[in-house]
This record gives sequence, structure tokens and C-alpha cells, in this order.
Amino acid sequence: MSSHDTYDTTGPRDVASKTQEARMGDVDERFNSRLRELFGSTPFILTKFDAFLNWARSSSMFVLQFGIACCSIEMMGTYMPGHDLDRFGTGVPRASPRQADLLIVPGTIVSKFGPRMKRLYDQMPEPKFVVGMGSCTISGGPFQEGYNVVKGAEEIIPVDIHVPGCPPRPEALIYGIRKLQDRVQHGESAPVTVKPYELEQFGDVERDEVVRELANEIDEETLVMRYNWGDSP
Ligand code: SF4
Repeated sequence: MSSHDTYDTTGPRDVASKTQEARMGDVDERFNSRLRELFGSTPFILTKFDAFLNWARSSSMFVLQFGIACCSIEMMGTYMPGHDLDRFGTGVPRASPRQADLLIVPGTIVSKFGPRMKRLYDQMPEPKFVVGMGSCTISGGPFQEGYNVVKGAEEIIPVDIHVPGCPPRPEALIYGIRKLQDRVQHGESAPVTVKPYELEQFGDVERDEVVRELANEIDEETLVMRYNWGDSP
């Protein structure tokens, strides 16, 4: 047997093309589609517009700068280099509700602050999301018995994610925000409609009406501290 019979004389290029054909099998017709003709060798992706928008929305959330009480210190820490919330696309809070997607509520909400919080929330464009941070935001926390403490942000605005703790650590806040991003990416959007938590006394009513409404709710038997509305600025 001559050496000519034992060795394959196919060139390297032929071998490569044969291997490729074997690997690909029948060429998928989609590779020769009209889109491919249009785009040529330029890479492109196909996706649903909704899916793309949800992905973009969840990956670049603008936060309203909104510190209330001690929980805010942990929130600030979450923005700092040690935890660097910005790496999840949710950093650099701005002091305007106009472009904000996300409101983090970090602290004790008192009845005087309630209407202000609602007004800022109302000024945020749809869709908008709220992360409640800490026991105070969930239920009034250690100050729950205080007559002027709102028993949870949910009484005033809708809350999408509650992060428990007093205060929650930055890792917990990051976890809560990541959970929210996950939900947004999968198509959840905040409700546009107003819900029953919309308490009338927190609307844009006259100050005297707010005082009267709240005064009616005070149980004098259990009252341990009386707030003098007349002295308030
Ligand atoms: S939950 Fe605790 S740390 Fe947060 S605002 Fe309330 S008292 Fe302060």
C-alpha cells in the first residue's frame, strides 16, 4: 500500500468546513432571513418591546432623595463605596420627584409629615415604586404607641417591598431593592389607581381639619404625651 492511499489529502480549509457543517447540521432558515439580509454581519437581537422596557426600567432606577430618621443613615451607608448601591443601577439619588422611579421610605413617619410624603409620591411619574425601610416605616416601630406616629407608610402610599429591621443593614436594603428590580424585570408595575389607604386626613385639606381629624382619634385614656398643635410652626 502506498503512502498516497493511507493519508487523507484534503486541505485544512476543507476539513474545517466539513467539521462546521457536521456541527451545525441543517442550517436554520432563520440565519438566512430577511433580517439577516438587512443587517448583514451586524449583530442584532430580537426581543419583545415590553421585555426590553422592563429590563431597562429595572436596571436604571432613579431614586428620590428622601431621608426621614435614623434608618436614613443606613441608607446613606448603602450608597457609600462599602456597599455601592450604584453597581445595581439604583444609585445617586436626586432631590426631585419628577424623574424618580423609586421612593425609599427610611424612618418614622409622623402625622405632620404624612401629607408631605404623599405629595412627593404623587409628583413622581408612573410607573413608580416604593421600598419601605425599617420597622417604623412598616408599623411605627418603637414609636408605634405615639399618638402622632403613622402606623406604617402603607396607610398613606402603596409600598411594594418591606425591608424589616431597626434599622435594616445596608445588605438588607440592597436585597429588598434587588427583589423589587426582579419583579419589575418580570413585568410588575406599580398600581396607577388610588387605593383605600388614601386617608382623607392626609389629602390637601386645611390644617385645622387635619388637627380635628387627628384629635378625634386620640384616646385620652391611654394618652401619655400631648402634642400642642398651637405651638407648632
Ligand atoms: S426602624 Fe429603628 S432605625 Fe429605623 S427609623 Fe425607626 S427607630 Fe430609627
